[in-house]
Amino acid sequence: MYDTHMHTHFSPDSRTKPQDMVEAAIQQGLDGICITDHVEIQVYEPPIDEVFSAKEYFEQLQQLKRKELDVLIGAEVGLQPHVLPLCSAFTKEMPYDFIIGSIHLAGKKDVYDLCQTKDPKDVLDLYYDDMEKCMEQYDDFDTLAHIDYVHRYFPVGTILPPFSYYEEKVKRILKILIEKQKSLEINTGGLRKSTHIHHPKTQTLTLYKKLGGKLITIGSDAHTPNYVAFAFKEEMKYAKDHGFTEIQVYKQRKKVPIRI
Ligand SMILES: [Zn+2]
Ligand SMILES: [Zn+2]
Repeated sequence: MYDTHMHTHFSPDSRTKPQDMVEAAIQQGLDGICITDHVEIQVYEPPIDEVFSAKEYFEQLQQLKRKELDVLIGAEVGLQPHVLPLCSAFTKEMPYDFIIGSIHLAGKKDVYDLCQTKDPKDVLDLYYDDMEKCMEQYDDFDTLAHIDYVHRYFPVGTILPPFSYYEEKVKRILKILIEKQKSLEINTGGLRKSTHIHHPKTQTLTLYKKLGGKLITIGSDAHTPNYVAFAFKEEMKYAKDHGFTEIQVYKQRKKVPIRI
């Protein structure tokens, strides 16, 4: 098994040494990992770029290659409709194995902040509209991460509109992924939050399968070694229960299917 979404100190929100992720993965008996540190272009106000030195990143991660563990090099790229050419320019700098596309901002605002301050319907509209634009206009990614990430951050007790409110938007996004032969990520990060939610939630994963979606990737989104491969057993069962029989690992941006 591979865990293909995790962070190290090359991300602003992790202090973990890449070496420690490798040790944790070996202890867990994994076959491989992909380290996917954050690349965020034009975030905050005034906008700044939160990007690592790609050269240094490769130099350090390439030294981690071990015979007992396949160590792949990726990045989690924060997508916003107005920065897509810059995202692509960054990922083209180096020969990454895997690029995760993520929506962490909507309408140029941090999703967490939006959830605290705006009407949930407006937040969901902004979030899924930006995601749809990115999926439509962008090709330089392999999987769409934590599709319902926005649902993590509404304050406890918020009454959210039903799935039917945003189902059509989600459907259009999933159709684009299927058409472009991109993967949808199962991300176990939501299971660690107090809200304990699956990404994707069951309605979304069911819809993806129904529309003909076959390609999924899986990642813990660990920022510390103790969460490497977090809840993978539970999440493999979740994937199988939704009719999936394999997950994709990307090497040099090419799909390698693994049976589950
Ligand atoms: Zn993310
Ligand atoms: Zn992440």
